[in-house]
Amino acid sequence: MIYLDNNATTAVAPEVLNAILPFLQTEYYNPSSMYAAATPAKHAVETARKTIAQHLAAEPAEILFTSCATESINAALFGTVRANPNRKHIITTAVEHPAVLECCRELQRQGCEVDYVGIDRNGNLNLGEFVQKLRKDTLIAAVMHANNETGVVFPVDRLSRIVKETDSAILFLCDATQSMTKLPIRMNSSFRNVDILAFSGHKFHAPKGIGAMFIRKGTRCRTFLIGGHQESGRRGGTENVPYIVGMSKAIELAAATHDTDIQRIETLRNKLESGIKERIPYIEINGAGAERMPNTLNVAVHYIEGEGILYQLSDLGICASSGSACTSGSLEPSHVLSAMGVPFSAMHGSVRFSLSRYTTEAEIDFVLDKFPEIVANLRRLSLYWDQEKNCPRSEPANPAV
Ligand code: PLP
Repeated sequence: MIYLDNNATTAVAPEVLNAILPFLQTEYYNPSSMYAAATPAKHAVETARKTIAQHLAAEPAEILFTSCATESINAALFGTVRANPNRKHIITTAVEHPAVLECCRELQRQGCEVDYVGIDRNGNLNLGEFVQKLRKDTLIAAVMHANNETGVVFPVDRLSRIVKETDSAILFLCDATQSMTKLPIRMNSSFRNVDILAFSGHKFHAPKGIGAMFIRKGTRCRTFLIGGHQESGRRGGTENVPYIVGMSKAIELAAATHDTDIQRIETLRNKLESGIKERIPYIEINGAGAERMPNTLNVAVHYIEGEGILYQLSDLGICASSGSACTSGSLEPSHVLSAMGVPFSAMHGSVRFSLSRYTTEAEIDFVLDKFPEIVANLRRLSLYWDQEKNCPRSEPANPAV
């Protein structure tokens, strides 16, 4: 199996699994219990909190464990709306993950006003539009750090500074689900104007089902998950001790090998990108004109369906993903590529490859060997492709002919 879908989820690192196991097998106690046997579990949660805080240059009390980034984002958006009833305006971007977009739509139904800032053809945020949309009653700006589909990185440093210079009471939420451990995030320097940060462990070799949020001290945000007194009363529910330990271990591992891993991943991504460009005509790299995550490659292949490519890649044991989502039987083009203005002929043919520290050069060579053949075969079946001249048609062929 060649796994190139690491923006969807990642393999649990063996070191992470080893760190988790004792907390499933012997140290399984509830960290809130009073007896001595529970002390290691309690201690492990607080050590993990300190490790993660240190990685982000934050205070341990500013780290709150959740079940995933989606929960962290829900807690941030609904919690701040409830805690600040005088401000009803939210500003976000058109290309956020549904975890943000669907919360915003629900908050609109509940009476908030939401503005969705667009992006340009390269995937960069329309900065002027962002500034223009900030209002006196803006409560929060929710902006992702790196886009899950294209890997394009938004200038969170600059955007959060603009927000605070406009009105220091406006909150800034950053969805760092894709960038955590891959790009530098320091809450006391480049991210000092970010109030809330959300992420999920399974994007960086921890298991699924664990996430966290940074909430800057003093940020007005009401409890989202009401229940026990866990997480200083800010999120009820018995702590997922094994996975909290696992997420902290995954962060430690990433920090220890960051530079070499990231350089190697980027070199492999660049090899895949240039190899595809050399071998396949009529393609574009979505987001190539912007700053991008080192592990992500989104290729728009004109004149074919991404789904067809994915099935054929899958037959060869290659896991990648497409820019389309199959919704109620119809193929909806990706909201990210639509916002970017990717032409219709390429919108449905976009394929995302996302690499990890476990990706090897041999795997990239295999994809480079097979991918052009898959594209050529699918284009032969396309109504938009002239088989004789081996180039696109100006008009689709009549399927009846
Ligand atoms: N935000 C971004 C940018 C993502 O890529 C994802 C998941 O792909 C999420 C949020 C949601 O993460 P989770 O499903 O772990 O809650």
